[in-house]
Parts: sequence; structure tokens; C-alpha cells
Amino acid sequence: MNTETPFVPLTGSCRCEQARFRLETAPIITHACHCRLCQKLSGSPFRSVAMIETARVTLLEGKTLSFHGKKSQKQIQCADCGCGLWTHHPDLGDGIAFVGVGVLDEGERLPPEAHYFVRSKHPWIALPPGIPAFEQLGDPGKAGARERVMAVLAAKGHVPEKGDWGLEKR
Ligand SMILES: [Zn+2]
Ligand SMILES: [Zn+2]
Repeated sequence: MNTETPFVPLTGSCRCEQARFRLETAPIITHACHCRLCQKLSGSPFRSVAMIETARVTLLEGKTLSFHGKKSQKQIQCADCGCGLWTHHPDLGDGIAFVGVGVLDEGERLPPEAHYFVRSKHPWIALPPGIPAFEQLGDPGKAGARERVMAVLAAKGHVPEKGDWGLEKR
């Protein structure tokens, strides 16, 4: 069963525009995370990311390097300007990328389909009605999404027993 809708590839770049990339298919899901780490990562009250198989992200131009700080996700960033492009979560590995919606050229095409860690959400942010929101993590129940994540993890020989999206509860 094909659960993926037709998708016009989305391009993106770092702030110096040396590094350019493209999402080849629709993301698995786009979410906003209000956790303290995502607040640090984004320098903003929340981080909005498109979760996608890393194999479906093509680097078109430029060079990247990865930064992996203590207690942080591994971040892929432009080698020239250091702007973060996407991250890899330690529980999901390098096969799943979390692409910052703000580095996409038309990020407005990907509004959040779920909100996570609203327990640390800044109080002025009003969540839109009808969008799943979770105190921590949760499964928003998007058709085909969980299967796509599990397919990547299974290919890497990593099948988590518990948690949502294979992520440990924390
Ligand atoms: Zn987060
Ligand atoms: Zn750059």
C-alpha cells in the first residue's frame, strides 16, 4: 500500500548558501519539539523539524561536517558557516534525519503535524486545535509514519522494544 502522497521536492540551504540540499520525498512527519534541548539547538522556544530517511536527503552543493557535543544530538552543519541543517537522534541513529524546517526554502509547506514536550512549552505559544500535542513524546498516529521509521531501524538491525518512534522515554 502506498501511503505517500505526491510530493514536489523541497530544497534548502544554510545561511551562507554554500551548502544546498533537497528532500526527495515527503517527510515521515513534521513536528515541533518544545523540549529544553531543542530550545538550545534552535535558540528559540521550539524547534520545528521534518523527520525523513537520511537516504532521501541529497546534498546538492557544498560541504558539511558533523558536530556531536556532549548531551546533544549529532548535528550536520555547513562546513563554511556552521549553520545547522539537520540532526540525528542518538536513539534512531544516522538513518533518520531531523531537518530544520527553517533551513528549507519553502518550509511553510511543512507545518507541524504534532507537538512534543509541551510540558516545557513557552506559555505564550497557543497550539492550533486539532494537532496532536504531547506532554513528552507520543505517537500522533499518522498513517505509514511508524512503518517508515521501523523500516529504517530494522535495516540497521536495531528494533526498539518500547517507546514511541523508537525513542526512549525521558
Ligand atoms: Zn526536542
Ligand atoms: Zn553555509
